[in-house]
Amino acid sequence: MHEYSIVTALIEECERHAQANNAIKISRVEIKLGILSGVEPELLKTAFETFKLEGICREAELVMNIQPLILMCLDCGQSTEHSERSVICSHCQSGQTKVLDGEDMLLMQLELEQA
Ligand SMILES: [Zn+2]
Repeated sequence: MHEYSIVTALIEECERHAQANNAIKISRVEIKLGILSGVEPELLKTAFETFKLEGICREAELVMNIQPLILMCLDCGQSTEHSERSVICSHCQSGQTKVLDGEDMLLMQLELEQA
């Protein structure tokens, strides 16, 4: 499943940060999840709860911040927020827009416990 490989990569990233900071434990993992990232929050959470048990994220809480789609309009210059997939500017209805945010999943913050 898609979410499983994402979670595996996420946990590996957390482990690298933990090692770099001599942490013995990660208590909180905060991510940004774009609505266009193609990741299902519920599935991601389930996958995280399953895979975290084997590593340093064992007791970590996963916090997901859902990032709406942000479009920048090339015609009127305004940026607008969308809760659904869209390419249309809400101000001038132009379709000439560029995605500024909401497409990816990013690790935002980790709470580490040092030895
Ligand atoms: Zn516009």
